[in-house]
Amino acid sequence: MAIKRSGNGKSNNNNDKKTPNKKRQSKKQTNKIETKPSLVRAVATSEDSSEAQIRPNTLSGYIGQKELKETLKIAIAAARGRGEPMDHLLLYGPPGLGKTTMSLIIATEMEVDCKITTAPALERPRDISGLLVNLKPGDILFVDEIHRLNRIAEELLYPAMEDFRLDITIGKGQTSRIRSVPLKPFTLVGATTKVGSISSPLRDRFGLIQRLRFYEIDELTEIVLRTAKLLKYPIEPDAAEEIARRGRGTPRIANRLVRRVRDYVQVQKEPVITQSNAAIALDKYNVDRFGLDWTDRLILSTLIDNFHGGPVGLETIAAATGEDKKTIEEVIEPYLLQIGFLQRTSRGRAVTERARSHLQKS
Ligand code: ADP
Repeated sequence: MAIKRSGNGKSNNNNDKKTPNKKRQSKKQTNKIETKPSLVRAVATSEDSSEAQIRPNTLSGYIGQKELKETLKIAIAAARGRGEPMDHLLLYGPPGLGKTTMSLIIATEMEVDCKITTAPALERPRDISGLLVNLKPGDILFVDEIHRLNRIAEELLYPAMEDFRLDITIGKGQTSRIRSVPLKPFTLVGATTKVGSISSPLRDRFGLIQRLRFYEIDELTEIVLRTAKLLKYPIEPDAAEEIARRGRGTPRIANRLVRRVRDYVQVQKEPVITQSNAAIALDKYNVDRFGLDWTDRLILSTLIDNFHGGPVGLETIAAATGEDKKTIEEVIEPYLLQIGFLQRTSRGRAVTERARSHLQKS
């Protein structure tokens, strides 16, 4: 299976995924709030460039997400049996949970190529038509951040997804006409962190819509053990669990923590990652027992100290902490909600008792 990354698509640099960070920086400068670099942001950074080396490439190597795997196993077997491409698939859930990885695995299992791109790279009609006409029979087109597709690109996708046909408008005004170009049957895999922002005509064209969940500690522990093995650094099971507990239910973050702990332990000339040296390393990197970093604690303590714990609107939290609103909503908040540190009410976000007692102890 070959992986092809198109144009400005999702590359190892992940330029598009860095945008929220850039925005955050400019906001920080205007608000003059000092922040520290974080290891626990799920968005990919250039630091994660070695991801390809540790990505699982078979369904059996993909840990966790049991329901998703079962559904896809059936879909893949059925499609292969019919000699057709798999149904179009929409994967949604927070960043770093394995959407791209799953798309590459489907390509391997279907023995086809996977082209990876991201919606912001499909600005002009020719960006998407170029990709579509070059697909070979059965290929997978992975479009990350699909909720960000513009209307023109979306409308080009409708006949492509339904009838494997590209409708190109030639000329302008009254003399314009539509030329239909047949496409090879393909599978579109769309990925998004914001399923609610996808238009219903687009959503309705996906035969399979699947949610990815945060990983349980035991699943993340297994991922940490696997990654340490691939990095060829001995690790004790307790240490893997310590790292997993701080990995925010997210493989991308857990893998990043393994690499940083490995660096620390290696510099300390310790031959094995143990629970105690892993904990020391992660405390040094400012990642606490629940995987919270400086920004999470800033948000929670600002809510407690300045707003009696809430409820407070997202805009106000963003202004008071100097964080980007979108980053809070899409990257920071889902995990805080998941571990029961934050509650979302109709009047805004409120801190829970659980969060208060954690902050008091730490
Ligand atoms: P997303 O596309 O959802 O942002 P990715 O598919 O890029 O996330 O996954 C991030 C990293 O996490 C991958 O490089 C991979 O190594 C790891 N990963 C994700 N899901 C799994 C899994 N189920 N088992 C093992 N590793 C995983």
